Amino acid sequence: MYCENCGNKLNEGADVCLECGHKVKKETGNINIQNIPNEYRPISMWGYFGYEILFAIPFIGWIILLVFAFGGTSNINVKNFARSYFCFLIVLIVIILIFSAVVAGTAATMA
Ligand SMILES: [Zn+2]
Repeated sequence: MYCENCGNKLNEGADVCLECGHKVKKETGNINIQNIPNEYRPISMWGYFGYEILFAIPFIGWIILLVFAFGGTSNINVKNFARSYFCFLIVLIVIILIFSAVVAGTAATMA
């Protein structure tokens, strides 16, 4: 990178030009994923896909899901995804239970 003012070659990560004191414009809005701390690193599309497959595995996947949802990971995105998936599973189980109760009730009435 070079100084906008005098053209002097700048050191990596320099805030000011050592030659003329010109302030170096920091590139904003251009986030480098490698610079994001692990706790906030985004999950890639295939990452989400992988977690979904993992959490869908009966028992083993559910245990991993609970571990991730309740503090087993330092990454906030993985934790939030695990928590939302956990809520989704609970809603799904409730719907299945209601549906089976309705079907069982209907079958009992018909017999
Ligand atoms: Zn300069």
